[in-house]
Amino acid sequence: MDPKQIRVRFAPSPTGPLHIGGVRTALYNYLFARKHGGKFILRIEDTDRARFVPEAEKYIMESLEWAGISFDEGIREGGAFGPYRQSERKGIYRQYAEKLVEPGHAYYAFDTPGELEKMRKKLEEQKAANSSYGIAVRMSMTNSLTLPPEDVAQRISAGNPYVIRFKMPNNQDIKIFDEIRNWVIVNTSTLDDKVLFKSDGMPTYHLANIVDDHLMEITHVIRGEEWLPSLPLHALLYRSFGWDEPQFAHLPLLLKPDGKGKLSKRDGDRLGFPVFPIEWKDPKSGEVSPGYRESDFFPGAFVNMLAFLGWNPGTEQELFSMEELISAFSINRVGKSGSRFDFEKAKWYNHQYLQLQPIEDLVAQYKPVLKEKNIEATDDYISKVCTLIKERTNFVNEFWGQSYFFFEAPKEYDQKVVKKRWKENTPGIMTGLTEVLRAIDNFTSENTEKAVKAWIEEKEAGMGAVMNAFRLCVVGAMKGPHMFDIIALIGKEETLLRIEAGIRRMSNR
Ligand code: GLU
Repeated sequence: MDPKQIRVRFAPSPTGPLHIGGVRTALYNYLFARKHGGKFILRIEDTDRARFVPEAEKYIMESLEWAGISFDEGIREGGAFGPYRQSERKGIYRQYAEKLVEPGHAYYAFDTPGELEKMRKKLEEQKAANSSYGIAVRMSMTNSLTLPPEDVAQRISAGNPYVIRFKMPNNQDIKIFDEIRNWVIVNTSTLDDKVLFKSDGMPTYHLANIVDDHLMEITHVIRGEEWLPSLPLHALLYRSFGWDEPQFAHLPLLLKPDGKGKLSKRDGDRLGFPVFPIEWKDPKSGEVSPGYRESDFFPGAFVNMLAFLGWNPGTEQELFSMEELISAFSINRVGKSGSRFDFEKAKWYNHQYLQLQPIEDLVAQYKPVLKEKNIEATDDYISKVCTLIKERTNFVNEFWGQSYFFFEAPKEYDQKVVKKRWKENTPGIMTGLTEVLRAIDNFTSENTEKAVKAWIEEKEAGMGAVMNAFRLCVVGAMKGPHMFDIIALIGKEETLLRIEAGIRRMSNR
């Protein structure tokens, strides 16, 4: 028989924007599915209506699409296991919760909010280790374990509000295998009787998640470490239903750059980097949070960076295309301990990707910026500029600051440098330089460099004195690529004009 087809899912709750940790979870699932020729499913877990944010679903899909993470089944793709939005599966869950009541794995509870509050207060006063609804209190509450069966039936048929709770077994060691953590063993005495089905007719996360994973034939549950505390309950649910458990893998947390705690939106705000894949505008407050897409990251660089937050290939190679990630990925190489987020490394990845882009692509991305500034230049010229400056940039949005002088003469000169470098004898030296340059017919970088250097030596003018003033005239600041490459590109006439303007403007301060 064929081995069972691998089916994994990403199951976000649409309660707000997707954190980059969520994108990493989706990515690992995607890589795992693709690597094993399996199926990848997007399921929207929207049973918590109080926290539901309508804009979030579209945001999640747009983010993943931008990152190049695609699904085989889902709310957009459809599929044989749909619907893929839990709110549309509402009718499915009650029967499963009820199925657990009969053999005694779950029970109806009718406690009012007031009664629950009283219970919590009492447990707090007693300083009980476990202050929630569970073994210690369940027999003193209003539920189908304490009420006569006729009373229960009467309350239900009268439409009294109720929930269905899981009856946590007493003092049992639950042993579950996690692909990343090995055996996880939890004693049930630390766990409470979680609600599975709510009085609003909706399942809770726990029930819906397990029922859907089962019905959708999910073989591997790969999700964030924050769900590890739910694992014993989930395993018990599978066992109570008599269903096969999927294999579990709980991914390590993404940590703050200093390693102290989980990476949050506040860290991003405080330290100045995005924690969301694409820009998010909060529909209520109108607050805009930055995204990697809008910060000019290449999706490939973003994904490559994320892949390495928790996984490594076991080799020195750091740059991976999506295809390479798919073939190199394995759950066995995902670590247990949290990964510190490092924005410098994210920029490094983008820098590397930028160097690898075909030059036509960089030209295409730079052109709109130039157009906005009403600058006309041929593709060939822009392409030469991009080639010269790309090494000095991490992002296409840094191109203009590193290359404006290829398109226009400096509007101003960096005054700090002028003060330091523009001496009384500089105009004379610069005039001498114009004469040397004017005499060169074939104005290539090599020719001008050779001639100017020979002249500096002959005149003993000093390399620094000449080159700094030269750069000031042509660029307006101490930046940019090799001087002789710059002037070869802007041409002899423009170079001479700039030196002359520099002499005029910087001498008459
Ligand atoms: N809806 C849960 C979430 O928001 C799914 C967790 C899981 O993958 O089981 O992450």
